[in-house]
Amino acid sequence: FCGMVAIVGRPNVGKSTLLNKLLGQKVSITSKKPQTTRHRIMGIHTDEEKQIIFIDTPGLHIDEKRAINRLMNRAAASSLADVSMVVFVVDGMTWTEDDEMVLNKLQQGSGKRKTVLAINKVDNIKDKEALFPYLAELSEKFTFDEILPISATKGTNVQRILDLAQASL
Ligand code: GDP
Ligand code: MG
Repeated sequence: FCGMVAIVGRPNVGKSTLLNKLLGQKVSITSKKPQTTRHRIMGIHTDEEKQIIFIDTPGLHIDEKRAINRLMNRAAASSLADVSMVVFVVDGMTWTEDDEMVLNKLQQGSGKRKTVLAINKVDNIKDKEALFPYLAELSEKFTFDEILPISATKGTNVQRILDLAQASL
């Protein structure tokens, strides 16, 4: 088996940290981020049976004021159809318009891919109630196959993401 999983989210939510943890779990190869028109390869996770290519989808992070950007966003969203799972990463403490923008782009791509909401940096959250206002709003707007509180730095629930990624191939 071989397949692609996209790690998606606005800057600074912890995508790179998560990727490093995902690749650090077992034997892995990291690529030098070659650019393709549709995706940037972030890293490749390999075990005996399966190979998962983790990708970034740069167009999803562009704001839509200019027509060319809208076009790129649409291309990026539809290219996610190649992907068996999307990990949408948010910062557990802060929900911003940029998160909302990325989430809206995610919704535009169709296909039967899975979507996992990874609420990152939970190691930083003392008051778990602080999560709920935006979490309720999120689950109204979008259906997630799984919602996972994670800590990319500590590794909390990172193995679960890897298991879901492998199962999605
Ligand atoms: P990216 O821009 O989405 O790739 O985010 P980075 O992986 O570069 O992380 C942005 C910042 O958040 C860095 O300072 C990380 O150390 C920090 N960070 C990432 N994951 C976690 C986490 O699980 N807990 C905490 N406390 N900080 C984190
Ligand atoms: Mg990064």
